[in-house]
Amino acid sequence: MNNQSETEKLPVQRRFHIMAKPGGSTCNIDCQYCYYLDKADLPNGPGAGRMSDEVLESYIRQYIEGVTKNGKPTFDLVMNGIKLLKKHRVPFNTLTCVNRLNAKRPLDVYRFLRREVQSTYIQFIPIVEYKGFETTAPQYWDPEKLPIDGSPESRPDHPDSVVTDWSVDPDDYGYFLSKVFDEWLNRDVGKVLVNHIETLVAQHLGLPSQICIYSGFCGKGLAVENEGSVYSCDHYVYPEYKLGNVKDNSLAEMVFSPVQTKFGFDKSETLPGYCRKCEYLTDCWGECPKNRILRTVDGEPGLNYLCSGLKKYFKHALPEINQSTNQPINQSTNQPINQPINQSTNQLIKFLNEP
Ligand code: SF4
Ligand code: SF4
Repeated sequence: MNNQSETEKLPVQRRFHIMAKPGGSTCNIDCQYCYYLDKADLPNGPGAGRMSDEVLESYIRQYIEGVTKNGKPTFDLVMNGIKLLKKHRVPFNTLTCVNRLNAKRPLDVYRFLRREVQSTYIQFIPIVEYKGFETTAPQYWDPEKLPIDGSPESRPDHPDSVVTDWSVDPDDYGYFLSKVFDEWLNRDVGKVLVNHIETLVAQHLGLPSQICIYSGFCGKGLAVENEGSVYSCDHYVYPEYKLGNVKDNSLAEMVFSPVQTKFGFDKSETLPGYCRKCEYLTDCWGECPKNRILRTVDGEPGLNYLCSGLKKYFKHALPEINQSTNQPINQSTNQPINQPINQSTNQLIKFLNEP
């Protein structure tokens, strides 16, 4: 008699993705705010160079079906590329960095993406760079030296700031997301997906976060460098977070290793008490751990640099989102009270699930 249950016999399906860095830090655009260029000089880091055929083959064999060739994507080339994509009806996403300057001009940025680029899937990523990020791995900061939330050092444009000059100001970031939200709400609901809005809507429909930064755990988005080394995340390409090398280890072994599993769960397990008590905890989950470079007013380390801005954005957007998802709000927790999904909610879910 076979005593294995039917469930035990099923093949285990687990998902992950790995960002390939075939050119790594050798990118020739040299953006001042890029977090990656210094990997070339990082002691015991991946170094500079192009991925060899041997590494590429090993990586492809294990995981991927195609690679892109590096080019010289200046503004004009990018815009021409977009023209071609549109001409041949190829869907595309845009990824826009929100930095200290453009965060003050959310409508200009959003309207450029909508009117000139005609992007219908807009992703925004905040530029937050710890001063010293070139060699100091996240979570290896001296906790005593992290500034208190709200102090002058916790903002850019201070000689002793914790971040580089071009990092976005946290309050500007909240302003940026809130203004983008309003514009999207007034003009683009049902036509455009914006990653930060999409995921907030999804979470308030009881669906999982659509992006790692707002998930309770992460660790399923690794990076493979030019010489084959694999790291916990492309923001964690430091020796302290190296998992192995595709030439010597299998991807599955590295992705599902205890070290990487712990990395993923640490996202929520290392949150400061201040976050655990936050009314937006299940919307935010402390955002990305690489940005947890502040101490709370009580002195506890591990608070996200963007916290004040994120709170502004959540406070601004959630009443509308809860109304559009028809979720009644529990006044004491500010979270929706679960109820059966109705017609308009179904439309939103359909929209969210469209490719
Ligand atoms: S460390 Fe940050 S960017 Fe990397 S997977 Fe986790 S949340 Fe995402
Ligand atoms: S909004 Fe601030 S306090 Fe709340 S979970 Fe996010 S980082 Fe923590």
